Amino acid sequence: MSDAPDPVALEVLNPATEELVALVPAATRDDVDAAVARAAAAQRTWAAAAPADRARLLRRFASVVDGHIEELAQLEVREAGHTVGNARWEAGNVRDLLDFAAGGVERLSGRQIPVPGGLDVTFLEPLGVIGVIAPWNFPMPIAAWGLAPALAAGNAVILKPAETTPLTALRLAGLALEAGIPEHLFQVLPGTGPVAGDALVEHPGVAKIVFTGSTRVGKQIMAKCADRVKRVTLELGGKSPNIVFADADLDAAAAAAPMSFLDNTGQDCCARTRILVQRSAYDRFLELLAPGIEGVRVGDPADEKTQMGPLISRAQLDRVRSYVPDGLTAIRGTAPEGPGFWYPPTVVTGVAPTAPVAAEEVFGPVAVVLPFEDEAEAVALANATEYGLSGSIWTRDVGRAIRVSRAVAAGNLSVNSHSSVRYWTPFGGYKQSGLGRELGPDALTAFTETKNVFISTEA
Ligand code: NAD
Repeated sequence: MSDAPDPVALEVLNPATEELVALVPAATRDDVDAAVARAAAAQRTWAAAAPADRARLLRRFASVVDGHIEELAQLEVREAGHTVGNARWEAGNVRDLLDFAAGGVERLSGRQIPVPGGLDVTFLEPLGVIGVIAPWNFPMPIAAWGLAPALAAGNAVILKPAETTPLTALRLAGLALEAGIPEHLFQVLPGTGPVAGDALVEHPGVAKIVFTGSTRVGKQIMAKCADRVKRVTLELGGKSPNIVFADADLDAAAAAAPMSFLDNTGQDCCARTRILVQRSAYDRFLELLAPGIEGVRVGDPADEKTQMGPLISRAQLDRVRSYVPDGLTAIRGTAPEGPGFWYPPTVVTGVAPTAPVAAEEVFGPVAVVLPFEDEAEAVALANATEYGLSGSIWTRDVGRAIRVSRAVAAGNLSVNSHSSVRYWTPFGGYKQSGLGRELGPDALTAFTETKNVFISTEA
Protein backbone atom coordinates (compact mmCIF):
# COMPACT_ATOMS: atom_id res chain seq x y z
CA MET A 1 0.00 0.00 0.00
CA SER A 2 1.30 3.45 -0.94
CA ASP A 3 1.99 5.86 1.95
CA ALA A 4 1.11 8.93 -0.16
CA PRO A 5 -1.00 11.40 1.86
CA ASP A 6 -4.63 11.83 0.88
CA PRO A 7 -5.09 15.17 -0.92
CA VAL A 8 -8.22 17.12 -0.07
CA ALA A 9 -9.14 18.41 -3.51
CA LEU A 10 -8.11 18.27 -7.16
CA GLU A 11 -7.58 21.59 -8.96
CA VAL A 12 -9.03 21.55 -12.46
CA LEU A 13 -7.39 24.27 -14.57
CA ASN A 14 -8.38 25.45 -18.03
CA PRO A 15 -5.19 24.62 -19.97
CA ALA A 16 -5.83 27.44 -22.45
CA THR A 17 -6.07 30.17 -19.79
CA GLU A 18 -4.71 28.63 -16.55
CA GLU A 19 -7.95 29.74 -14.83
CA LEU A 20 -9.41 27.54 -12.12
CA VAL A 21 -12.43 25.68 -13.51
CA ALA A 22 -13.31 23.61 -10.44
CA LEU A 23 -12.08 22.15 -7.18
CA VAL A 24 -13.14 18.53 -6.91
CA PRO A 25 -12.95 16.52 -3.67
CA ALA A 26 -10.40 13.72 -3.98
CA ALA A 27 -11.47 10.20 -3.02
CA THR A 28 -9.70 8.56 -0.07
CA ARG A 29 -9.01 4.87 0.45
CA ASP A 30 -12.11 4.70 2.66
CA ASP A 31 -14.17 6.18 -0.18
CA VAL A 32 -12.89 3.41 -2.45
CA ASP A 33 -13.80 0.72 0.11
CA ALA A 34 -17.33 2.09 0.42
CA ALA A 35 -17.73 2.39 -3.36
CA VAL A 36 -16.63 -1.21 -3.93
CA ALA A 37 -19.14 -2.51 -1.37
CA ARG A 38 -21.97 -0.54 -3.02
CA ALA A 39 -20.88 -1.62 -6.50
CA ALA A 40 -20.76 -5.31 -5.54
CA ALA A 41 -24.36 -5.19 -4.27
CA ALA A 42 -25.58 -3.37 -7.41
CA GLN A 43 -23.71 -5.79 -9.67
CA ARG A 44 -25.45 -8.87 -8.28
CA THR A 45 -28.87 -7.49 -9.22
CA TRP A 46 -27.63 -6.25 -12.63
CA ALA A 47 -26.11 -9.61 -13.52
CA ALA A 48 -29.40 -11.35 -12.73
CA ALA A 49 -31.43 -8.98 -14.95
CA ALA A 50 -32.67 -10.19 -18.34
CA PRO A 51 -30.16 -9.36 -21.09
CA ALA A 52 -32.88 -7.53 -23.02
CA ASP A 53 -33.46 -5.24 -20.01
CA ARG A 54 -29.74 -4.49 -19.68
CA ALA A 55 -29.56 -3.71 -23.40
CA ARG A 56 -32.58 -1.39 -23.17
CA LEU A 57 -31.04 0.60 -20.30
CA LEU A 58 -27.71 0.95 -22.09
CA ARG A 59 -29.52 2.24 -25.19
CA ARG A 60 -31.37 4.73 -23.01
CA PHE A 61 -28.03 5.82 -21.51
CA ALA A 62 -26.69 6.32 -25.08
CA SER A 63 -29.73 8.39 -25.95
CA VAL A 64 -29.36 10.62 -22.85
CA VAL A 65 -25.68 11.16 -23.74
CA ASP A 66 -26.80 12.04 -27.26
CA GLY A 67 -28.97 14.79 -25.82
CA HIS A 68 -25.97 16.26 -23.96
CA ILE A 69 -23.22 16.11 -26.61
CA GLU A 70 -22.74 19.88 -26.69
CA GLU A 71 -22.66 20.23 -22.90
CA LEU A 72 -20.13 17.39 -22.55
CA ALA A 73 -18.02 18.80 -25.39
CA GLN A 74 -17.89 22.28 -23.84
CA LEU A 75 -16.88 20.75 -20.50
CA GLU A 76 -14.08 18.84 -22.25
CA VAL A 77 -12.89 22.04 -23.95
CA ARG A 78 -12.62 23.74 -20.54
CA GLU A 79 -11.00 20.96 -18.54
CA ALA A 80 -8.74 19.40 -21.21
CA GLY A 81 -8.21 22.19 -23.77
CA HIS A 82 -9.46 19.98 -26.62
CA THR A 83 -10.65 21.69 -29.76
CA VAL A 84 -14.42 21.89 -29.75
CA GLY A 85 -14.70 19.75 -32.91
CA ASN A 86 -12.66 16.97 -31.34
CA ALA A 87 -14.57 17.25 -28.08
CA ARG A 88 -17.89 16.78 -29.89
CA TRP A 89 -16.48 13.70 -31.60
CA GLU A 90 -15.37 12.35 -28.23
CA ALA A 91 -18.79 12.82 -26.63
CA GLY A 92 -20.38 11.19 -29.70
CA ASN A 93 -17.97 8.30 -29.33
CA VAL A 94 -19.32 7.63 -25.80
CA ARG A 95 -22.85 7.45 -27.21
CA ASP A 96 -21.74 5.14 -30.01
CA LEU A 97 -19.85 2.84 -27.65
CA LEU A 98 -22.89 2.51 -25.38
CA ASP A 99 -25.07 1.68 -28.39
CA PHE A 100 -22.52 -0.79 -29.75
CA ALA A 101 -22.20 -2.53 -26.36
CA ALA A 102 -25.99 -2.66 -26.00
CA GLY A 103 -26.11 -4.50 -29.32
CA GLY A 104 -23.72 -7.10 -27.94
CA VAL A 105 -25.65 -7.91 -24.74
CA GLU A 106 -28.10 -10.33 -26.30
CA ARG A 107 -25.45 -11.94 -28.52
CA LEU A 108 -23.12 -12.69 -25.60
CA SER A 109 -23.45 -16.42 -25.09
CA GLY A 110 -21.46 -19.54 -24.42
CA ARG A 111 -21.08 -22.60 -26.63
CA GLN A 112 -22.13 -26.19 -26.75
CA ILE A 113 -19.13 -28.41 -27.40
CA PRO A 114 -19.46 -32.03 -28.60
CA VAL A 115 -17.89 -34.39 -26.04
CA PRO A 116 -18.30 -38.12 -25.37
CA GLY A 117 -20.51 -39.20 -22.45
CA GLY A 118 -22.55 -36.07 -21.96
CA LEU A 119 -23.42 -32.51 -22.76
CA ASP A 120 -20.81 -29.79 -22.47
CA VAL A 121 -21.70 -26.12 -22.31
CA THR A 122 -19.82 -22.94 -21.57
CA PHE A 123 -21.16 -19.85 -19.80
CA LEU A 124 -19.69 -16.37 -20.07
CA GLU A 125 -20.11 -14.96 -16.59
CA PRO A 126 -19.49 -11.37 -15.53
CA LEU A 127 -16.36 -10.74 -13.49
CA GLY A 128 -17.95 -8.50 -10.83
CA VAL A 129 -16.63 -5.02 -10.02
CA ILE A 130 -14.33 -3.47 -12.65
CA GLY A 131 -11.91 -0.64 -11.86
CA VAL A 132 -11.34 1.64 -14.86
CA ILE A 133 -8.33 3.96 -14.43
CA ALA A 134 -8.31 6.57 -17.19
CA PRO A 135 -5.79 9.11 -18.48
CA TRP A 136 -6.38 12.78 -19.24
CA ASN A 137 -5.69 12.72 -22.96
CA PHE A 138 -9.08 11.34 -24.08
CA PRO A 139 -11.05 11.41 -20.84
CA MET A 140 -14.46 10.52 -22.26
CA PRO A 141 -13.83 7.89 -24.95
CA ILE A 142 -11.26 5.96 -22.95
CA ALA A 143 -13.54 5.84 -19.93
CA ALA A 144 -16.29 4.52 -22.20
CA TRP A 145 -14.06 1.84 -23.77
CA GLY A 146 -14.12 0.13 -20.38
CA LEU A 147 -17.45 1.31 -19.07
CA ALA A 148 -19.74 0.33 -21.96
CA PRO A 149 -18.68 -3.30 -22.54
CA ALA A 150 -18.17 -3.96 -18.82
CA LEU A 151 -21.73 -2.90 -17.98
CA ALA A 152 -23.08 -4.74 -21.02
CA ALA A 153 -21.46 -7.99 -19.86
CA GLY A 154 -23.11 -7.69 -16.44
CA ASN A 155 -20.42 -5.98 -14.35
CA ALA A 156 -20.34 -2.86 -12.17
CA VAL A 157 -17.79 -0.13 -12.91
CA ILE A 158 -15.83 2.26 -10.69
CA LEU A 159 -14.10 4.85 -12.85
CA LYS A 160 -11.13 6.82 -11.57
CA PRO A 161 -10.52 9.66 -14.00
CA ALA A 162 -7.16 11.43 -14.24
CA GLU A 163 -6.45 14.13 -11.67
CA THR A 164 -6.68 16.92 -14.27
CA THR A 165 -9.88 15.80 -16.03
CA PRO A 166 -12.59 14.57 -13.61
CA LEU A 167 -15.48 16.77 -14.80
CA THR A 168 -16.78 14.94 -17.87
CA ALA A 169 -16.57 11.64 -15.97
CA LEU A 170 -18.68 13.05 -13.13
CA ARG A 171 -21.22 14.38 -15.63
CA LEU A 172 -21.44 10.97 -17.34
CA ALA A 173 -22.23 9.36 -13.99
CA GLY A 174 -25.07 11.88 -13.55
CA LEU A 175 -26.39 11.12 -17.05
CA ALA A 176 -26.30 7.37 -16.30
CA LEU A 177 -28.62 7.89 -13.33
CA GLU A 178 -30.88 10.10 -15.45
CA ALA A 179 -31.11 7.25 -17.96
CA GLY A 180 -32.16 4.80 -15.26
CA ILE A 181 -28.88 2.89 -14.91
CA PRO A 182 -29.23 1.44 -11.37
CA GLU A 183 -27.64 3.43 -8.57
CA HIS A 184 -24.03 2.46 -7.70
CA LEU A 185 -23.60 0.34 -10.82
CA PHE A 186 -21.44 3.07 -12.36
CA GLN A 187 -19.57 5.24 -9.87
CA VAL A 188 -16.94 7.89 -10.52
CA LEU A 189 -14.24 8.47 -7.91
CA PRO A 190 -12.02 11.42 -8.79
CA GLY A 191 -8.73 11.15 -6.97
CA THR A 192 -5.01 10.76 -7.33
CA GLY A 193 -3.27 7.76 -8.82
CA PRO A 194 -1.25 6.82 -5.73
CA VAL A 195 -4.34 7.00 -3.45
CA ALA A 196 -7.64 6.28 -5.23
CA GLY A 197 -6.06 4.48 -8.20
CA ASP A 198 -3.82 2.35 -6.04
CA ALA A 199 -6.72 1.53 -3.68
CA LEU A 200 -8.72 0.15 -6.63
CA VAL A 201 -5.74 -1.89 -7.82
CA GLU A 202 -5.17 -3.37 -4.36
CA HIS A 203 -8.82 -3.92 -3.43
CA PRO A 204 -9.73 -7.63 -3.20
CA GLY A 205 -13.31 -6.79 -4.23
CA VAL A 206 -12.22 -5.41 -7.62
CA ALA A 207 -12.03 -8.27 -10.12
CA LYS A 208 -10.31 -6.50 -13.00
CA ILE A 209 -8.39 -3.30 -13.68
CA VAL A 210 -8.64 -1.62 -17.06
CA PHE A 211 -5.77 0.85 -17.14
CA THR A 212 -4.91 3.36 -19.83
CA GLY A 213 -1.89 5.52 -19.21
CA SER A 214 1.88 5.51 -19.15
CA THR A 215 3.93 2.34 -19.53
CA ARG A 216 5.71 3.20 -16.25
CA VAL A 217 2.49 3.16 -14.19
CA GLY A 218 1.07 0.26 -16.21
CA LYS A 219 3.98 -1.94 -15.18
CA GLN A 220 3.48 -1.05 -11.49
CA ILE A 221 -0.22 -1.90 -11.76
CA MET A 222 0.46 -5.18 -13.53
CA ALA A 223 2.94 -6.18 -10.81
CA LYS A 224 0.40 -5.41 -8.08
CA CYS A 225 -2.37 -7.25 -9.91
CA ALA A 226 -0.09 -10.30 -10.13
CA ASP A 227 -0.32 -10.65 -6.34
CA ARG A 228 -3.97 -11.60 -6.63
CA VAL A 229 -3.87 -12.79 -10.24
CA LYS A 230 -6.28 -9.93 -10.77
CA ARG A 231 -7.38 -9.56 -14.40
CA VAL A 232 -5.86 -6.59 -16.17
CA THR A 233 -6.07 -4.83 -19.51
CA LEU A 234 -3.32 -2.31 -20.21
CA GLU A 235 -3.35 0.40 -22.89
CA LEU A 236 0.04 2.10 -22.63
CA GLY A 237 2.42 4.38 -24.50
CA GLY A 238 3.40 4.52 -28.15
CA LYS A 239 5.94 5.92 -30.59
CA SER A 240 4.21 5.07 -33.81
CA PRO A 241 5.91 5.10 -37.22
CA ASN A 242 4.50 6.76 -40.32
CA ILE A 243 6.35 4.97 -43.16
CA VAL A 244 6.34 6.86 -46.46
CA PHE A 245 7.70 4.97 -49.48
CA ALA A 246 8.88 6.86 -52.56
CA ASP A 247 6.13 5.21 -54.64
CA ALA A 248 3.39 6.71 -52.42
CA ASP A 249 1.12 9.59 -53.36
CA LEU A 250 3.53 12.05 -51.72
CA ASP A 251 1.09 14.96 -51.80
CA ALA A 252 -1.50 12.92 -49.92
CA ALA A 253 1.08 11.53 -47.46
CA ALA A 254 2.48 15.00 -46.71
CA ALA A 255 -0.99 16.53 -46.39
CA ALA A 256 -2.07 13.88 -43.88
CA ALA A 257 1.13 13.81 -41.83
CA PRO A 258 0.66 17.01 -39.75
CA MET A 259 -2.62 16.10 -38.03
CA SER A 260 -1.45 12.51 -37.59
CA PHE A 261 0.79 13.79 -34.78
CA LEU A 262 -0.69 17.23 -34.00
CA ASP A 263 -4.25 16.14 -33.35
CA ASN A 264 -5.04 16.55 -29.64
CA THR A 265 -1.77 18.56 -29.47
CA GLY A 266 0.15 15.31 -29.93
CA GLN A 267 -1.24 13.92 -26.66
CA ASP A 268 -2.36 10.80 -28.44
CA CYS A 269 -1.01 7.31 -27.80
CA CYS A 270 -1.35 6.59 -31.56
CA ALA A 271 0.38 9.80 -32.72
CA ARG A 272 2.56 9.13 -35.77
CA THR A 273 5.64 10.84 -34.31
CA ARG A 274 8.33 8.93 -36.22
CA ILE A 275 7.98 9.87 -39.87
CA LEU A 276 10.18 7.45 -41.84
CA VAL A 277 10.69 8.57 -45.44
CA GLN A 278 12.46 6.70 -48.25
CA ARG A 279 15.65 8.63 -49.02
CA SER A 280 14.85 9.22 -52.70
CA ALA A 281 11.68 11.09 -51.67
CA TYR A 282 13.04 12.68 -48.46
CA ASP A 283 13.76 16.25 -49.67
CA ARG A 284 10.55 16.47 -51.68
CA PHE A 285 8.50 15.18 -48.73
CA LEU A 286 9.96 17.82 -46.37
CA GLU A 287 9.17 20.56 -48.91
CA LEU A 288 5.58 19.36 -49.11
CA LEU A 289 5.30 18.93 -45.33
CA ALA A 290 6.50 22.41 -44.29
CA PRO A 291 3.43 24.49 -45.29
CA GLY A 292 1.13 21.97 -43.58
CA ILE A 293 3.01 22.36 -40.28
CA GLU A 294 3.47 26.12 -40.48
CA GLY A 295 -0.18 26.70 -41.39
CA VAL A 296 -1.81 24.81 -38.49
CA ARG A 297 -4.17 27.13 -36.62
CA VAL A 298 -3.13 26.98 -32.96
CA GLY A 299 -5.16 28.85 -30.36
CA ASP A 300 -8.43 29.08 -28.44
CA PRO A 301 -9.84 25.54 -28.42
CA ALA A 302 -13.40 26.90 -28.17
CA ASP A 303 -13.00 28.60 -31.58
CA GLU A 304 -14.52 26.38 -34.28
CA LYS A 305 -11.61 27.12 -36.66
CA THR A 306 -8.84 26.09 -34.27
CA GLN A 307 -6.96 22.94 -35.24
CA MET A 308 -4.68 22.60 -32.23
CA GLY A 309 -5.15 23.67 -28.60
CA PRO A 310 -2.80 23.83 -25.61
CA LEU A 311 -1.04 21.02 -23.77
CA ILE A 312 -2.81 19.75 -20.66
CA SER A 313 -0.53 21.24 -17.97
CA ARG A 314 2.65 23.09 -17.13
CA ALA A 315 4.31 19.76 -16.28
CA GLN A 316 3.51 18.46 -19.77
CA LEU A 317 4.79 21.69 -21.34
CA ASP A 318 8.10 21.40 -19.45
CA ARG A 319 8.39 17.77 -20.51
CA VAL A 320 7.86 18.57 -24.20
CA ARG A 321 10.35 21.48 -24.07
CA SER A 322 12.99 19.23 -22.57
CA TYR A 323 12.87 16.98 -25.67
CA VAL A 324 13.48 19.75 -28.21
CA PRO A 325 16.64 21.68 -27.38
CA ASP A 326 17.16 24.86 -29.44
CA GLY A 327 18.88 24.12 -32.73
CA LEU A 328 17.11 20.81 -33.35
CA THR A 329 14.02 22.18 -35.04
CA ALA A 330 13.64 21.90 -38.82
CA ILE A 331 10.04 23.07 -39.27
CA ARG A 332 8.05 24.99 -36.70
CA GLY A 333 4.53 26.42 -36.58
CA THR A 334 3.22 29.12 -34.28
CA ALA A 335 1.58 29.18 -30.85
CA PRO A 336 0.17 31.86 -28.53
CA GLU A 337 2.49 33.30 -25.88
CA GLY A 338 0.35 32.52 -22.85
CA PRO A 339 -1.21 32.33 -20.34
CA GLY A 340 -1.95 28.73 -21.14
CA PHE A 341 0.28 25.75 -21.85
CA TRP A 342 1.22 26.40 -25.48
CA TYR A 343 3.81 24.70 -27.66
CA PRO A 344 4.08 25.10 -31.46
CA PRO A 345 3.85 22.28 -34.02
CA THR A 346 7.43 21.07 -34.41
CA VAL A 347 9.28 18.75 -36.78
CA VAL A 348 12.85 17.70 -36.02
CA THR A 349 15.32 16.30 -38.58
CA GLY A 350 18.97 15.28 -38.51
CA VAL A 351 18.78 13.24 -35.30
CA ALA A 352 19.74 9.59 -34.80
CA PRO A 353 16.87 7.10 -34.39
CA THR A 354 18.16 6.54 -30.85
CA ALA A 355 18.02 10.24 -29.81
CA PRO A 356 15.48 10.72 -26.97
CA VAL A 357 13.18 12.84 -29.17
CA ALA A 358 13.14 10.04 -31.78
CA ALA A 359 12.92 7.08 -29.40
CA GLU A 360 10.79 8.16 -26.42
CA GLU A 361 7.14 9.12 -26.20
CA VAL A 362 7.15 12.96 -26.04
CA PHE A 363 3.34 13.27 -25.83
CA GLY A 364 3.31 16.70 -27.44
CA PRO A 365 3.18 18.24 -30.95
CA VAL A 366 6.62 17.01 -31.95
CA ALA A 367 7.66 14.54 -34.67
CA VAL A 368 10.99 13.49 -36.12
CA VAL A 369 11.65 12.69 -39.79
CA LEU A 370 14.17 9.91 -40.43
CA PRO A 371 15.36 8.64 -43.85
CA PHE A 372 15.53 4.97 -44.89
CA GLU A 373 16.94 3.21 -47.97
CA ASP A 374 14.71 0.22 -48.61
CA GLU A 375 11.83 -1.87 -47.29
CA ALA A 376 14.04 -3.90 -44.96
CA GLU A 377 15.47 -0.80 -43.32
CA ALA A 378 11.99 0.77 -43.00
CA VAL A 379 10.73 -2.30 -41.13
CA ALA A 380 13.85 -2.44 -38.95
CA LEU A 381 13.50 1.24 -37.99
CA ALA A 382 9.75 0.89 -37.39
CA ASN A 383 10.38 -2.03 -35.05
CA ALA A 384 13.38 -0.49 -33.24
CA THR A 385 11.24 0.58 -30.28
CA GLU A 386 9.92 -0.92 -27.07
CA TYR A 387 6.44 0.19 -28.17
CA GLY A 388 4.05 -1.35 -30.69
CA LEU A 389 0.73 0.44 -30.68
CA SER A 390 0.00 1.90 -34.12
CA GLY A 391 1.57 2.83 -37.42
CA SER A 392 0.90 3.87 -41.01
CA ILE A 393 2.27 2.72 -44.35
CA TRP A 394 2.04 4.97 -47.41
CA THR A 395 2.63 3.18 -50.72
CA ARG A 396 0.84 2.46 -54.01
CA ASP A 397 2.25 -1.09 -54.09
CA VAL A 398 -0.36 -3.48 -52.64
CA GLY A 399 2.13 -6.30 -52.12
CA ARG A 400 4.46 -4.00 -50.18
CA ALA A 401 1.56 -2.67 -48.11
CA ILE A 402 0.68 -6.21 -47.05
CA ARG A 403 4.31 -7.32 -46.47
CA VAL A 404 5.13 -4.30 -44.34
CA SER A 405 1.85 -4.48 -42.39
CA ARG A 406 2.67 -8.06 -41.47
CA ALA A 407 6.29 -7.25 -40.58
CA VAL A 408 5.67 -4.26 -38.30
CA ALA A 409 5.06 -5.38 -34.70
CA ALA A 410 2.12 -3.16 -33.76
CA GLY A 411 -1.52 -3.73 -32.87
CA ASN A 412 -3.14 -1.15 -35.17
CA LEU A 413 -1.81 -0.40 -38.64
CA SER A 414 -3.32 1.62 -41.44
CA VAL A 415 -2.39 1.80 -45.11
CA ASN A 416 -2.64 5.19 -46.85
CA SER A 417 -4.50 6.42 -43.79
CA HIS A 418 -3.80 7.33 -40.17
CA SER A 419 -7.00 5.98 -38.70
CA SER A 420 -6.42 3.74 -35.66
CA VAL A 421 -9.51 3.74 -33.48
CA ARG A 422 -12.90 2.46 -34.57
CA TYR A 423 -15.26 0.97 -32.02
CA TRP A 424 -16.06 -1.95 -34.38
CA THR A 425 -12.45 -3.15 -34.52
CA PRO A 426 -10.03 -4.44 -31.86
CA PHE A 427 -7.56 -1.95 -30.41
CA GLY A 428 -4.44 -2.55 -28.33
CA GLY A 429 -0.69 -2.76 -28.27
CA TYR A 430 2.14 -5.19 -28.98
CA LYS A 431 5.23 -5.22 -26.74
CA GLN A 432 5.27 -2.52 -24.04
CA SER A 433 2.30 -0.69 -25.56
CA GLY A 434 -0.13 -2.87 -23.70
CA LEU A 435 -1.80 -6.13 -22.84
CA GLY A 436 -5.16 -7.32 -24.13
CA ARG A 437 -7.53 -5.67 -26.58
CA GLU A 438 -10.41 -3.27 -26.22
CA LEU A 439 -13.28 -2.40 -28.59
CA GLY A 440 -14.21 -4.63 -31.53
CA PRO A 441 -16.35 -7.76 -31.67
CA ASP A 442 -14.78 -9.30 -28.54
CA ALA A 443 -15.07 -6.20 -26.32
CA LEU A 444 -17.69 -7.75 -24.03
CA THR A 445 -15.93 -11.10 -23.72
CA ALA A 446 -12.96 -9.34 -22.10
CA PHE A 447 -15.25 -8.64 -19.13
CA THR A 448 -16.32 -12.24 -18.63
CA GLU A 449 -14.93 -15.44 -17.21
CA THR A 450 -15.59 -18.66 -19.17
CA LYS A 451 -17.14 -21.44 -17.14
CA ASN A 452 -17.33 -24.94 -18.59
CA VAL A 453 -20.02 -27.34 -17.34
CA PHE A 454 -20.13 -31.03 -18.25
CA ILE A 455 -23.41 -32.90 -17.69
CA SER A 456 -23.09 -36.67 -17.80
CA THR A 457 -25.70 -38.57 -19.78
CA GLU A 458 -24.51 -41.92 -18.46
CA ALA A 459 -25.55 -41.66 -14.82
P1 NAD B 1 -0.41 8.18 -16.14
O1 NAD B 1 0.13 6.81 -16.20
O2 NAD B 1 0.36 9.21 -15.40
O3 NAD B 1 -1.86 8.20 -15.45
C1 NAD B 1 -2.94 7.45 -15.96
C2 NAD B 1 -3.93 7.20 -14.85
O4 NAD B 1 -3.32 6.37 -13.87
C3 NAD B 1 -4.40 8.46 -14.10
O5 NAD B 1 -5.76 8.32 -13.76
C4 NAD B 1 -3.53 8.43 -12.85
O6 NAD B 1 -4.14 9.11 -11.76
C5 NAD B 1 -3.46 6.95 -12.57
N1 NAD B 1 -2.31 6.53 -11.76
C6 NAD B 1 -1.10 7.12 -11.65
N2 NAD B 1 -0.32 6.44 -10.78
C7 NAD B 1 -1.06 5.40 -10.34
C8 NAD B 1 -0.81 4.32 -9.42
N3 NAD B 1 0.35 4.20 -8.79
N4 NAD B 1 -1.78 3.41 -9.20
C9 NAD B 1 -2.96 3.51 -9.84
N5 NAD B 1 -3.28 4.51 -10.71
C10 NAD B 1 -2.33 5.43 -10.96
O7 NAD B 1 -0.68 8.58 -17.64
P2 NAD B 1 -1.18 9.96 -18.23
O8 NAD B 1 -0.04 10.90 -18.25
O9 NAD B 1 -2.45 10.38 -17.54
O10 NAD B 1 -1.60 9.54 -19.71
C11 NAD B 1 -0.73 9.60 -20.78
C12 NAD B 1 -0.22 8.21 -21.15
O11 NAD B 1 -1.32 7.37 -21.47
C13 NAD B 1 0.67 8.21 -22.36
O12 NAD B 1 1.77 7.39 -22.12
C14 NAD B 1 -0.21 7.59 -23.44
O13 NAD B 1 0.47 6.95 -24.50
C15 NAD B 1 -1.03 6.65 -22.66
N6 NAD B 1 -2.26 6.34 -23.39
C16 NAD B 1 -2.40 5.11 -23.97
C17 NAD B 1 -3.54 4.81 -24.70
C18 NAD B 1 -3.73 3.48 -25.36
O14 NAD B 1 -4.84 3.17 -25.70
N7 NAD B 1 -2.70 2.68 -25.52
C19 NAD B 1 -4.54 5.77 -24.84
C20 NAD B 1 -4.36 7.01 -24.24
C21 NAD B 1 -3.21 7.28 -23.50
